[in-house]
Amino acid sequence: MEIKITLTQNPKAKPDPATVPFGVAFTDHMFLMDYDSENGWHDARIVPFADLSLSPGAVVFHYGAEVFEGLKAYRTPGGAVQLFRPEENMKRMSQSAERLCLPMPDEAFALEALKKFVEVEKEWVPEAYGTSLYLRPVLFGTEANLSLHDIHQAMFMIIACPVGSYYKNGLMPVELLIENEDVRAVRGGTGFAKCGGNYAAAARAGSRAEEKGFSQVLWLDGVERKYVEEGGGMNIMFKWNGRLVTPELNGSILPGVTRKSILEMAKSWGVETVERQIPVNEMMEACRNGEIEEAFCCGTAAVVTPVGGFTYGEQKVTVNNNKIGAFTQKLYDNLTGIQWGKQDDTFGWTVTVK
Ligand SMILES: *Cc1c(COP(=O)(O)O)cnc(C)c1O
Repeated sequence: MEIKITLTQNPKAKPDPATVPFGVAFTDHMFLMDYDSENGWHDARIVPFADLSLSPGAVVFHYGAEVFEGLKAYRTPGGAVQLFRPEENMKRMSQSAERLCLPMPDEAFALEALKKFVEVEKEWVPEAYGTSLYLRPVLFGTEANLSLHDIHQAMFMIIACPVGSYYKNGLMPVELLIENEDVRAVRGGTGFAKCGGNYAAAARAGSRAEEKGFSQVLWLDGVERKYVEEGGGMNIMFKWNGRLVTPELNGSILPGVTRKSILEMAKSWGVETVERQIPVNEMMEACRNGEIEEAFCCGTAAVVTPVGGFTYGEQKVTVNNNKIGAFTQKLYDNLTGIQWGKQDDTFGWTVTVK
């Protein structure tokens, strides 16, 4: 399918990536493509960034028919622009779409569209190490029909915004609040899908945690509230008795690309990795007795975030004296080294954009 390109006549001033807040300064263009059950996916186009026109009856507004992705375009020291494992994002979007009964474009074409879009917006990829162009593919139902039914009309869109370094003052440990009232997802539900609905379910606990001064919650499983699952938009990992330990993917945890990459990287260094069910009481005890040497969250936005402590009801524990650990720092340095093209990509994870 051809991608029709209409360039803007009014290019915007680019914000300073050092100070721009996350996710508000959009680039000059967007990618759009329409679906209907008669014609399939059609009308792939890159057009000037503008408001959309949708029927107030569109299914996305009423029944949460929406899935999304998040990845970045990075500028290398040589000036090239590259993506990090973008095929993983498209594969995950397919799995998310399947769960929500949304029609998914051909994965290879979606990836081609993403690359073409980044090529058009290339000048928006900032240069400083740690800054990037955040890419947000999103797929949603557009059909105006309030009856519960299969989705016959949908749209696939890609927008982007330059983002600064997540860490303006270095990697500072955060304290997580373990949530024991609300749950984010249950097995059999949509936890493994990257969909807006999961964030809607998570919002209340997140804002309560923020009021109490925590940066994020740590979710427990939705059935027994007994097993550690993940952070609010990031996966959780531990350096535990010299091994890398993380909750196993059980259907309610989001399968992070960063999580997967860290597991592969650690294995390549000869570190033993363990994916298993982690009871929260065992985790708290292992923090107290020092078996857990380091804890960190991981995801595309912040890469890795060291965790300095956990609060669970009345219990409070500290990890690694509230300091970033050497293993967490090494993962951060190597992952960002590959993403920003400062070191050899021996894994073959990066994809250069023309
Ligand atoms: C996107 C996301 C992650 C992290 O995934 P990455 O692919 O590493 O960015 C983790 N948890 C949730 C709930 C997410 O939405």
